[in-house]
Amino acid sequence: MHTSRSPLPRLPATGDALLRLVASCRAPAHLPSLRAAHARLLLLFHLHPSHPSTAPAIVKLIQAYAACAALSSARAVLDSSPDRSTILFNVLIRALTSASLHRDALRLFASMRPRGPACVPDHYTYPLALKSCAASNDLLLGLQIHSVIAKLRLDANRYVAHSAISMYARCGRPDDAYRVFDEMQNRDVVTWNAMISGFARAGLFDRAVGVFREFVALQCSSPDAGTMASVLPAMGNAKAEDIAFVRRVFDEMHFKELISWNAMLAIYANNEFHVKAVELFVKMEKDGVEPDEVTLATVLPPCGELSAFSLGKRIHEIIKRKRMRPNLLLENALMDMYASCGCLKDAKEVFDSMSARDVISWTSIISAYGKHGQGREAIDLFERMQGHGIEPDSIALVAVLAACSHAGLLDVGKHYFDCMTSRYRITPKAEHYTCMVDLLGRAGCISEAYDFIMTMPIDPNERVWGSLLGACRIHSNMDIGLVAADNLFRLVPEQTGYYVLLSNIYARAGRWADVTLVRGVLASKGIKKLPGASNVELGDRVHTFHIGDRSHPQSEMIYQKLDELLGRIRGMGYNPEVEATLHDVEEEDKEGHLSIHSEKLAIAFLLINTSPGTPIRVTMNLRTCGDCHLAAKLISTITSREIILKDTNRIHHIVQGVCSCGDYW
Ligand code: ZN
Ligand code: ZN
Repeated sequence: MHTSRSPLPRLPATGDALLRLVASCRAPAHLPSLRAAHARLLLLFHLHPSHPSTAPAIVKLIQAYAACAALSSARAVLDSSPDRSTILFNVLIRALTSASLHRDALRLFASMRPRGPACVPDHYTYPLALKSCAASNDLLLGLQIHSVIAKLRLDANRYVAHSAISMYARCGRPDDAYRVFDEMQNRDVVTWNAMISGFARAGLFDRAVGVFREFVALQCSSPDAGTMASVLPAMGNAKAEDIAFVRRVFDEMHFKELISWNAMLAIYANNEFHVKAVELFVKMEKDGVEPDEVTLATVLPPCGELSAFSLGKRIHEIIKRKRMRPNLLLENALMDMYASCGCLKDAKEVFDSMSARDVISWTSIISAYGKHGQGREAIDLFERMQGHGIEPDSIALVAVLAACSHAGLLDVGKHYFDCMTSRYRITPKAEHYTCMVDLLGRAGCISEAYDFIMTMPIDPNERVWGSLLGACRIHSNMDIGLVAADNLFRLVPEQTGYYVLLSNIYARAGRWADVTLVRGVLASKGIKKLPGASNVELGDRVHTFHIGDRSHPQSEMIYQKLDELLGRIRGMGYNPEVEATLHDVEEEDKEGHLSIHSEKLAIAFLLINTSPGTPIRVTMNLRTCGDCHLAAKLISTITSREIILKDTNRIHHIVQGVCSCGDYW
């Protein structure tokens, strides 16, 4: 090890050994050694043009200085070099581009031409220069360089052409990008990948997917791992049919590299196809494919979303076995997974055992405690984070405000909200305002919440109004509730999440015309309500239940079990709530009965299939209703099971009839 504090190592005497020492200098801490070796080399060879070791020595010196982030020294070596060949320029330009010093790279590139034939840019230089044009969004220079390339007929070179494609795409000229691609004589899979990733990285997702489809349709060569990696960034908010198409291509690949699996997993995970992601990972294990850090960090969030606790635990074992820690990305994902599965203790264990934590790690654990209704602990962690010298960011403040809201800590929440601008210098965004409206609404301060909205410096969005409307429903405040509803309806008539709330409040107020209007607008837009679904993990599989679902093979047993349970809790004061009937009038079946909600089916299913004492984990895609919440609490009492019910807003951790949410959600 070479460090700046220790005395310089005894320098090797031979030229070869010195060059090896130069090549081993890869970090700023190695600079003293590098400079010493450089000085010795000068003495040894005088770096004379005729000496056979001179040229390789200069290349190595430039590379080493660049790797040690001493770019001006690298430049000085080039400038003092007796023989300034193209290759030396390429080495330094490459170093500057990798360090994102694109302007410097382009200046050096521009200085090449006047120096005579020895240092004319070549097919290595042009791609680098075009890359810098793309990165600095310099279309004009890019166009000039491309026309020089065309004159020199260098655009037949694949790498030159690929960088031209990418430059045009990045500089907002997709048609020019496609023209270069189209005019290429020999297009192979690498070329197609370049075109796809050119569009994808430029944010032209539809065009990227279009080229991907075109490539598959032409069948001149097969998509490979690079194709999967290229199309991945274009699949952020993808259409279901496109995802299915990519999956078919993936399935047909003869040789699947890990990178393809990771890309497919990420496409599922990024599009909230959680079940598909988990299934693909299980298939991967069955096929004997060894996952890496990227695989695991990709599949952990879907595990959390589905409360797939056993799989998450197994992934934790893999991480231990492969000694992948410390790894901040992976550890944060692991912690989130546990928190999301309702295992606060495991999440905290991961957090405590981390050797380094960033603001994301702290925010995760704060938000975990918040969602479990443990507001005091969340606040304590928020203060400890600052004690560790980590400044909260905007997201950390959302976490702590939400924690205050979930725990009903009105004064503390107000305090932090005030601190945002005065102490942390963070401008509150819609999320922060939503938390505050939630907090006030929960405390029953409906008019204060309304006044708060009226004095907001930004336009209240649908979440803010939705939060107020929710509070009005719980505290039965019709006047303000109707104001909230009218604003909500005006803002987002297509927002299905609030549709039920809206028609209910209009129905309660007897405003039948508005009820018809809400439904009419929605029907005319052809919008379908998000079907309520609950997911549970059993064995290797995730089982999904829908409202009134009778499709499960164990359906009969499930309904029997549920009848038995509901019968027993009826004696304990359970009455299918009127409130719940209003919860969603659309969900009434033909006989006028309330269809069985998916969360009840999921709970009954797990009670049948797991041994006594096993916690019941259910994940829903909507907020749970009052009826199911009460039923779950009573069922937890009569069966002595912990029930962890995760809905879109929070985690209901129910033990012996008591829920962590304190019956407010
Ligand atoms: Zn329900
Ligand atoms: Zn609850």
